[in-house]
Amino acid sequence: MPPLVPTATNMKRRQSELQAVLDELDREHLRRQRRTIDAFVEPGSRVTAIVDGRQLVDFSSNDYLGLARNPAVAAAMSECAEQCGSGSGASHLVTGHGAEHTRLEEELAAFTGRERALLFSTGYMANLAVMTTLAGRGETVLLDRLSHASLIDGGLLSAARFKRFAHADARAAETALAEHSETTSVVATDGVFSMDGDIGPLDKLARASKSHDAWLVVDDAHGLGVIGATGRGAVEYFGLDTDAVPVLVGTLGKAFGSFGAFVAGSTELIELLMQKARPYIYTTALPQPIAAASRKALEIAQRETWRRERVLALATRFRSGAAQAGVPLLAAPALSAGRSEAAGPQAIDQPVTPIQPVLLGSSEAALRAQRELLEAGFCVVAIRPPTVPQGSARLRVTLSAAHTEAQVDELVETLGRICAAQRMVS
Ligand code: PMP
Repeated sequence: MPPLVPTATNMKRRQSELQAVLDELDREHLRRQRRTIDAFVEPGSRVTAIVDGRQLVDFSSNDYLGLARNPAVAAAMSECAEQCGSGSGASHLVTGHGAEHTRLEEELAAFTGRERALLFSTGYMANLAVMTTLAGRGETVLLDRLSHASLIDGGLLSAARFKRFAHADARAAETALAEHSETTSVVATDGVFSMDGDIGPLDKLARASKSHDAWLVVDDAHGLGVIGATGRGAVEYFGLDTDAVPVLVGTLGKAFGSFGAFVAGSTELIELLMQKARPYIYTTALPQPIAAASRKALEIAQRETWRRERVLALATRFRSGAAQAGVPLLAAPALSAGRSEAAGPQAIDQPVTPIQPVLLGSSEAALRAQRELLEAGFCVVAIRPPTVPQGSARLRVTLSAAHTEAQVDELVETLGRICAAQRMVS
């Protein structure tokens, strides 16, 4: 369509074009809606909240360790705010970088067992930074098909050729690597996948990437703090050091109950990101009180190991209850859709994670189930395309250490009823 001259009539036409797009989203059951949290009900927890005027139990947050309303984390934040104020005032490379940022970066490097870590304002920006710095025109990036949107967008922004391999299929990645061996600079994957809750075949991807001299980027936003013998994420689960996974991305707004993100790796990698990554250079530094909150949360997460044990025990409880109640959980990840038959022998012994999606198929069915759960007092959000592939709309149930067993059991029972009723109509 040729560009319109911006007269009043033409602008009206533009507005109606926008409305037509919105109408189409409504027809396809794909219109997204925000919910407003008016207040939290219990001290120190964000699990029970007044949402749009009604009391609900939240089973959709990423607050896996129950730290997002922890009083000690909030106190660390306000003490720092007393000292440093609310705003950092500038980007990190101008005058926005403070002592709390440096301390947090050092603690994150120690936590992940990497030489250095670099803070970013969000995980989205960290992924854009990594992909655009390590790949460029004339090169190829290989990505797991279900990688997070920010890895995909980073790959697109890098101007490199972009290839996706079948989800969690190391053999497909190896084939793609062999085919594009000369040009592949980056192989990227989630550690724990955000919408499926399964874990990527990082050991095999590490071996393949190394043998083709490609960077392996692992975004473990959902694994860090939760998975692995001491909560150091998917790389700990597989026992992979910097040599195997040279670029590790983590976020602070999920298990660590705060906000922001980081990249951990070698001194050279971090120095290059500081010099070249536009999402690092051209943005205001994260406020120091947020860094102070993250430091406290990181300390608590390591000390209070019961949080990790508890959320995983609740996830196991949810899984076995749901299976008994006939709730269609995403198939055991090693057998999930998108993994080719040939991948069978590669199946990973999957750890349980706090992300336990209930697969419903159509967007309409997912929205209906979301509405019915709301009526029953639960906030479980329907995830629809394009966030997940067509025909795989789901309820993304997530567990938190702050949930009670009774809340989990009640959710299972309600889901069982809803799914049975849906089976009768479909
Ligand atoms: N990576 C993954 C796997 C994610 O799920 C998310 C957030 N949903 C991000 C990156 C982005 O992190 P942030 O919210 O800090 O921008």
